[in-house]
Amino acid sequence: MDRINFRTQIISGHLQPPTTDILLHVTPCLSYTPPELTEPQPTFNTKSLRKLLDGQSADIIDYIFNLMIQSPLFSPKNKGGRVFITPDYNQSMEQQREMTMRRIGYLRDTGLFNGWFEKPAPDGDLWMFAMAETVGVFDHSLGIKLGVHFFLWGGALRFMGTKRHHDKWFKSTETFEVKGCFAMTGLGHGSNVRGIETITRYDASTSEFIINTPCESAQKYWIGGAANHATHTIVFSQLEINGVNDGMHAFIAQIRDENGNVCPNVRIADCGHKIGLNGADNGRIWFDNLRIPRENLLNSVADVSPDGKYLSAIKDPDQGIIVKC
Ligand SMILES: Cc1cc2nc3c(=O)[nH]c(=O)nc-3n(C[C@H](O)[C@H](O)[C@H](O)COP(=O)(O)OP(=O)(O)OC[C@H]3O[C@@H](n4cnc5c(N)ncnc54)[C@H](O)[C@@H]3O)c2cc1C
Repeated sequence: MDRINFRTQIISGHLQPPTTDILLHVTPCLSYTPPELTEPQPTFNTKSLRKLLDGQSADIIDYIFNLMIQSPLFSPKNKGGRVFITPDYNQSMEQQREMTMRRIGYLRDTGLFNGWFEKPAPDGDLWMFAMAETVGVFDHSLGIKLGVHFFLWGGALRFMGTKRHHDKWFKSTETFEVKGCFAMTGLGHGSNVRGIETITRYDASTSEFIINTPCESAQKYWIGGAANHATHTIVFSQLEINGVNDGMHAFIAQIRDENGNVCPNVRIADCGHKIGLNGADNGRIWFDNLRIPRENLLNSVADVSPDGKYLSAIKDPDQGIIVKC
């Protein structure tokens, strides 16, 4: 073939539509092959090993995997007669966040979270941890997003709150009508929770607390769920009454309305792309004289009376108290 013919052939090759076998498809990475297809059978009984490892959680784990493989949201793929699921980490941060929320919506609609706060210990706790582990095996973002909502937001309500909080928030938390987050960490104080700079003062004339971010290092940072979806948060803050600092307390604050708009007196920024966990929306929060009802103080060990008297079961500020669950 002469030189011109050769070049013409190359150029025309570029102009041809690609054949399907060389098209690049964006698909979830699923190169895993079940070992029984390529390896000899193990010499031990795999069912017994699984019983040993998963114990009484095996049924729960199977139940939840079974829910997941039934939905296209989990990209089920049949390999060697077994169904595998995986998230698509090629998706953008925004798509991964959206998918996490849609997966939660699907699991909620199956009734998986019904009665979350009513499950008696210790079986209830085992159930919750098995659930967290199973969704986390699929995708840590899904595990973290559910963990923040149920274990951090829900756990704070449960253990730091009292009946008035349980009656008001448990049901709407189970249904995700309320999407909870947990604003403890501040930019200037992660492990040093006692040094948190957020300040909450009490206004006896309106029976309200007023939450403030007094400086940049007090901004809440890394808060899971804050960037996109959370409607409410637990705020860890210093409590100050009549100029006296009564120490660290936790409060409930609404940060978005039912349409997802950020509430007045609240500012939120996105922590953005991370090296992992991009399906979880971490954000930063500032409070600018946000007023909340007196009842939003989580009051299992300390309370403020309507006229502004501070009452606490903890006498020594250096000591905590064991809360009976
Ligand atoms: C992906 C992600 C999600 C998160 N989600 C949330 C959330 O939803 N809500 C929330 O409130 N927070 C959240 N956090 C924040 C997390 O709780 C903090 O990062 C953590 O508490 C540590 O705080 P820090 O990052 O400020 O580190 P620092 O406290 O500054 O610690 C820095 C280093 O010093 C060490 N160190 C600290 N104190 C001591 C000490 N006394 N003695 C010895 N060594 C010490 C630490 O081990 C660490 O190596 C999240 C963080 C990440 C990364």
